[in-house]
Amino acid sequence: MDVVIVGGGIGGLTLALRLHRAGIPCRVFEAAPEIKPLGVGINLLPHASKELTELGLQDALARVAITTSQIAYYNRFGQLIYSDPCGRHAGYEWPQFCIHRGDLQMVLLDAVVERLGADRLITNHRCVGVDQDDSGATVHFEHTTTKQKLPSQRGAIVVSCEGIHSIIRKQFFPNEGPPRYSGLNMWRGVTRWKPFLDGASFVRIGWHKPAKVLIYPIRDHIDAEGRQLINWVCDIEQETPIPQRDWNRQGRIDDFIGAIENWRFDWLDVPAMCRAADQILEYPMVDQDPLPRWSHGRVTLLGDAAHPMLPRGANGGAQAILDCTALADSLAHIADPVAALAAYEERRRPATTKVVLTNRSEPPDAVLYEVYKRSGDKPFRHIDDVISQSELAGLLKRYQRVAGFDKEKLEAAAGR
Ligand SMILES: Cc1cc2nc3c(=O)[nH]c(=O)nc-3n(C[C@H](O)[C@H](O)[C@H](O)COP(=O)(O)OP(=O)(O)OC[C@H]3O[C@@H](n4cnc5c(N)ncnc54)[C@H](O)[C@@H]3O)c2cc1C
Repeated sequence: MDVVIVGGGIGGLTLALRLHRAGIPCRVFEAAPEIKPLGVGINLLPHASKELTELGLQDALARVAITTSQIAYYNRFGQLIYSDPCGRHAGYEWPQFCIHRGDLQMVLLDAVVERLGADRLITNHRCVGVDQDDSGATVHFEHTTTKQKLPSQRGAIVVSCEGIHSIIRKQFFPNEGPPRYSGLNMWRGVTRWKPFLDGASFVRIGWHKPAKVLIYPIRDHIDAEGRQLINWVCDIEQETPIPQRDWNRQGRIDDFIGAIENWRFDWLDVPAMCRAADQILEYPMVDQDPLPRWSHGRVTLLGDAAHPMLPRGANGGAQAILDCTALADSLAHIADPVAALAAYEERRRPATTKVVLTNRSEPPDAVLYEVYKRSGDKPFRHIDDVISQSELAGLLKRYQRVAGFDKEKLEAAAGR
């Protein structure tokens, strides 16, 4: 019997590739009638691109993504606070990519179809529950479009890669409370725009009062004028969360643009860029408390199904990709499936719990908060009057260590 993967998003497709590499057969069942390139930008930090490089995907990613040169932090007056080279530019062996989520999913999908065969990915199958016995686990499905019951599918193990609305997570934790609101709402979009700064920078600007904005290019040379597809995210502190946790929910420019109306810098006119967006989406900044366990016998959780975190710090996708490596390793080395799932959980649950909690308390943009606080949200004469560069570097290093992309640790883990 093979491994049944429920959900063909970033985690499900990466897991299929990892298992295939380890010689473990699997099938992926996806609820969507077809896999479409949905979402906007996603950031692949070096710990994630290392894993995708091991899967032989680096060249395919580099063709469609932007290889990020630096992360730069600005206050809301457009003054530079700190800039940090990233990926290869910071001496890592692996690049950092900024990519359209849809492009990432298509790179993974193409590889799954090419390596495993198109028949290993079955769409229009919405999981409605799972059960198990001593010899296997069975997933029950309905047809997403017609809602008709479909034949159940049995595997040696079942992995829920269903994302934030996992049915299998709900089945195991029926009394779990609602998502925890962080006090922030988020608007995201993509705009066709001229390259800004060096054309490969990831910038974070300001603090949540009145707004924090994140901007990075995700596709190069999209037209004859040399424009790029620019991804942007605007976070604003608000009492009431946006009502639904839906990645595809349409947002409105008027709901946030007032907070950044005067952010016109010599290196970028932020409101003009947001106004020119092709698409605006909205999402509440919510997460869920870490679970006490992921694995139940022959069934386990992975990615957002296991550890939904605040979409902050570019770690939702990365941690899902790291889960895949750990799970495939455990299954390859431990014959008993129940013991293998327990070992996977032991390796990944504490690590991701730390990331979930750190994203709440000390996120990667904590440097922006420090400057906001110490400068009284006023322009500074020189950043050293507010905070030293070494203190800023220390704050950033702390997050890298927790999230697992600290350069020394990553290289040590890779045996360099
Ligand atoms: C449509 C969409 C758009 C997104 N856009 C962004 C974005 O712009 N930026 C960003 O940083 N992150 C985005 N994300 C989230 C991001 O992909 C995840 O945080 C991260 O990559 C972890 O991946 P995952 O595989 O755990 O979950 P996901 O990538 O969310 O994948 C979950 C998959 O499971 C499928 N599924 C759900 N329920 C069932 C079910 N009952 N039965 C079968 N299949 C099921 C879903 O259709 C989906 O394909 C988006 C997710 C989705 C689904």
